[in-house]
Amino acid sequence: MIGGGLAGLSSAVALAEAGFRVRLLEKRPHLGGRAASYVLPGGEHVDNCQHVTLGCCTNLEDFYRRVGAADQIRFFDRLLFAAPDGRRGAIASVALPPPLHMAPSFAFFPLLGLNDKRVVAQALLSIARSGGRPADISSQGGNITMLAWLQKHRQTHRAIRRFWEVILVSALDEELDRIDARYGIDVFWKAFLSTRGGYRVGIPRVPLGDLYEGCRKALALRGGEVQLRAGVRGFRVEEGAVTGVEREDCSVETADYYLSAVPQDILPELLPSEVVELEPVFSNLRNLRTSPITGVHLWFDRVVMNEPFLTLVDSTTQWVFNKTQLYGGGENGGQYLQLVISASYALTSRSRQDIIAMCLEELRRVLPATADATLVKGTVVKEMSATFSPEPGSDRWRPAQKSPLGGLFLAGDWTATGWPSTMEGAVRSGYLAAEAILSDVGMPRKLLQPDLPAEGLARLWTRGS
Ligand SMILES: Cc1cc2nc3c(=O)[nH]c(=O)nc-3n(C[C@H](O)[C@H](O)[C@H](O)COP(=O)(O)OP(=O)(O)OC[C@H]3O[C@@H](n4cnc5c(N)ncnc54)[C@H](O)[C@@H]3O)c2cc1C
Repeated sequence: MIGGGLAGLSSAVALAEAGFRVRLLEKRPHLGGRAASYVLPGGEHVDNCQHVTLGCCTNLEDFYRRVGAADQIRFFDRLLFAAPDGRRGAIASVALPPPLHMAPSFAFFPLLGLNDKRVVAQALLSIARSGGRPADISSQGGNITMLAWLQKHRQTHRAIRRFWEVILVSALDEELDRIDARYGIDVFWKAFLSTRGGYRVGIPRVPLGDLYEGCRKALALRGGEVQLRAGVRGFRVEEGAVTGVEREDCSVETADYYLSAVPQDILPELLPSEVVELEPVFSNLRNLRTSPITGVHLWFDRVVMNEPFLTLVDSTTQWVFNKTQLYGGGENGGQYLQLVISASYALTSRSRQDIIAMCLEELRRVLPATADATLVKGTVVKEMSATFSPEPGSDRWRPAQKSPLGGLFLAGDWTATGWPSTMEGAVRSGYLAAEAILSDVGMPRKLLQPDLPAEGLARLWTRGS
C-alpha cells in the first residue's frame, strides 16, 4: 500500500480486517495526507486546513467508527451565516418531512429577499421532485455548468451570490462556472433535500492526526504495519503486471497485491513512462485539473468569537472556525480562529501579510470584538492543488480502482467514486479498491456503505423519478 491519506488508510484497515497483512508506506512523517495535522515550532497543533464532514458522508463515518475515532467528531445542526453589515441568519431543520424540513428557517432567512427565496425554492423543488437527477443538467450529451443551470432556473444575482455560491464553492472547491451541474445538484440533494440529517456539519474535536491513531493498531493486529518517511520511487512493471516497488532508499518490496493511494499527479511519475503513454487510464490523469484552498490561522490575545463556526456571505473569507472552542480548550484569555477560502485563485499570488490584512478587515465587520483585539500570531497556508476540479466532463478521466496493470489497484479521491474530491470520496475509493482486491482473491465482500435513505416526500419522489 503506497500512501497514508484517507484513501490508503481506509483500504488498509478494511483489508487488514479481512485478514490481509498490509504494509503501508507513507512518504511524509505523519498520516492523513491532505487531511493531516502537524505541530508548529511554537508547539501549537494545527490542521493542514480545517476539514469538515457532513451527515451524508456515510463511508467516512464508517471509517471513523472502525478506527475508534467516531466520538471525536462533533455534529452541529444549525448553520449560522453572517453578512458584512453585521446581520446574521440561521438555517436549521424542523419536524417536517424532507425536503420541507428546512423550509421554515429558509422562509425567515434574513439575508435573502422574497424574490430570491421564491426562485431558490423553485429550483430546489425541481431538484427534489426529480429525486436529485433533473433532466436539464445535460445538453447535447454533456453536462452543463452549475452556473448555466442556475441561470436556466432564473436565479437572481443575490440568490446566486448569497446562497448557491456560499454552499457550493466551499463544498466543491470550485467556482460555479467550472462546476459540473451534476456535482452541484448532488450536494443539495444529499445534504439538504433527501434526508433530515444530511446537512449536519461534523467537526473534529481533536487535531486531524489524532483521528488516525487506531489505524496502526488495526494493521498490527494482522501482522501488518505503517512505515512513515517511506517514500516510493516507482513501480517495477514487467509484461503488463507490477512485480515490485522501489523505495527511495533503493530497497525493493514485493507483494501479492499493490495498492497505489497517491494523488493523481504523482501516480504517473511512479510508473515507467512508456506504460503511461500507452495506457490512457494513466495518461488521461493529466486532464484532471486542480483548484486551490487557502487556510488562514489567527491567534488573538482575547476572546473575539462566541459561536463554534460561522459562514460568511459577500466576503472573500468563507468560513471562520473557532478552534479554541471546537477543541474544548479553556480560552486562556486568547482565541485561535481558522479561516477557510476555497477556490482561492485570486489569492495565489497575494502575499501572506496582504491576505491576513484582508481577512482581519472582513472579520471586523462580522466579529466586532476583533477590532480591539491584538493579533498575537497569524499564518497562511496556500494549498495550490487542494482538490481536483469537478468540471463538466471530469468524470471521464477518473479511472476504476482495478488498474489495467496486473496486481495494481488504485485508490484516491480522484478515482471513479461519483463523489467530489472530499474525505468521503477518498474513503469510498479506499473501500472500492479493497472490494476489488477481495473479489480478485475470491473473497468478495461489500464494504461501501449506502447513502442515507431518502425520507418523507423525497422518498416518494425518488421512487417516482
Ligand atoms: C486545504 C484543504 C481543505 C480541505 N477541506 C476538506 C473538507 O473540509 N472536507 C472534506 O471532505 N475534504 C476536504 N479536503 C479534501 C480532502 O482532504 C481530500 O479529498 C482527501 O484527504 C484526499 O485523500 P487521499 O487519500 O485521496 O489523498 P491524499 O490525502 O493526498 O493522500 C495521498 C498520500 O500519498 C502520499 N504519497 C505521495 N507520494 C508518495 C510516494 N512516492 N510514496 C509514498 N507515499 C506517497 C502523500 O504523502 C499522502 O499522504 C480538503 C483538502 C485540502 C487540501
